Amino acid sequence: MAGNGKTIFNLILSGNIPSHKIYEDEFVYAFLDINPLSRGHTLVIPKEESRTMDSLSEDSAAELGRVLPKICRAIMKITGANDYNLVQNNGENAGQTVPHLHFHIIPKYPQSNHSFIWEPKPIDHSDATELSRAILEELG
Ligand code: 5GP
Repeated sequence: MAGNGKTIFNLILSGNIPSHKIYEDEFVYAFLDINPLSRGHTLVIPKEESRTMDSLSEDSAAELGRVLPKICRAIMKITGANDYNLVQNNGENAGQTVPHLHFHIIPKYPQSNHSFIWEPKPIDHSDATELSRAILEELG
């Protein structure tokens, strides 16, 4: 796997650095973010060492996908938040600071003022036709 055994998250997984654990099974670990954007901000990580989503094994991906909804449900229930963002950064240029794949679950309360910069532009249909065809072909 494309991993990096020296990340801070490996030290958390091995128990060498403490964390506020909220969930653990054979494949997945979840804990509160040390610098939360809001109360209950959680990180969900595979135990497998993988920097980014594209290098994660199908087995780990399946296990992550299986437990994410129930972790979201528990956080919403306990914090009382009705809304949340699920954020996952891949690569430094995309804002990833810890090179061990992780999902952020970030509750959004009525009084929350954190935001994510999002500046959409209309799609270029000519490029989109070519792009979608190429990706479809790649995925077989
Ligand atoms: P990224 O920017 O890579 O998407 O997110 C990394 C996250 O890891 C950040 O939100 C940061 O606060 C969190 N983080 C970094 N080091 C630690 C740590 O030692 N413990 C915990 N609980 N969170 C950490």
